[in-house]
Amino acid sequence: MKRIALYPGSFDPVTNGHIDILRQTLALADEVIVAIGVHPGKKPLFSFEQRVELIHAAARDAFGAVENERIRVVAFSNLVIEVARAEGAQYLIRGLRDGTDLDYEMQMAGMNGTLAPEIQTVFLPASPTSRHITATLVRQIAQMGGNAAAFVPKAVAGPLAEIVKSGD
Ligand code: ADP
Repeated sequence: MKRIALYPGSFDPVTNGHIDILRQTLALADEVIVAIGVHPGKKPLFSFEQRVELIHAAARDAFGAVENERIRVVAFSNLVIEVARAEGAQYLIRGLRDGTDLDYEMQMAGMNGTLAPEIQTVFLPASPTSRHITATLVRQIAQMGGNAAAFVPKAVAGPLAEIVKSGD
């Protein structure tokens, strides 16, 4: 059976931490569905379409064009387990950076496991080189004129600097 993993998040923008988790997921699953949560009323820095482009550009650079074919990006605004079911995913991927992530993710995994026992949550550990990275801080650094290039893939650094400049 084709192993399908769903990796949900906001990816606003995709960071080196997300790419690290994607790399680990590609080793475990045949297909990875990156599910971008879109919420009416919450204004992201990058549009959904821009985030899709950045994820694919970063994945192509990091893993190559062939591996990039195994990644699909979708939008969702409903429950994560509902989008996992709709996409036929057996695995729900979450990255763990620290104890704070763990406490919250344990609650989510417990509740999702009750709602959808057929979907297995898989926790993947952040690598030491990227475990400190959060998209929220990346956005804040860029918006305050800082250089966030150390935390994001090459394909993201330029568009990030541009979008914050154009938003001034
Ligand atoms: P962030 O928390 O950075 O705003 P998301 O909400 O898009 O990012 O997170 C989506 C998923 O990616 C979550 O499971 C989160 O734990 C994981 N993740 C985010 N950043 C990292 C990182 N630096 N290392 C490992 N996993 C991460």
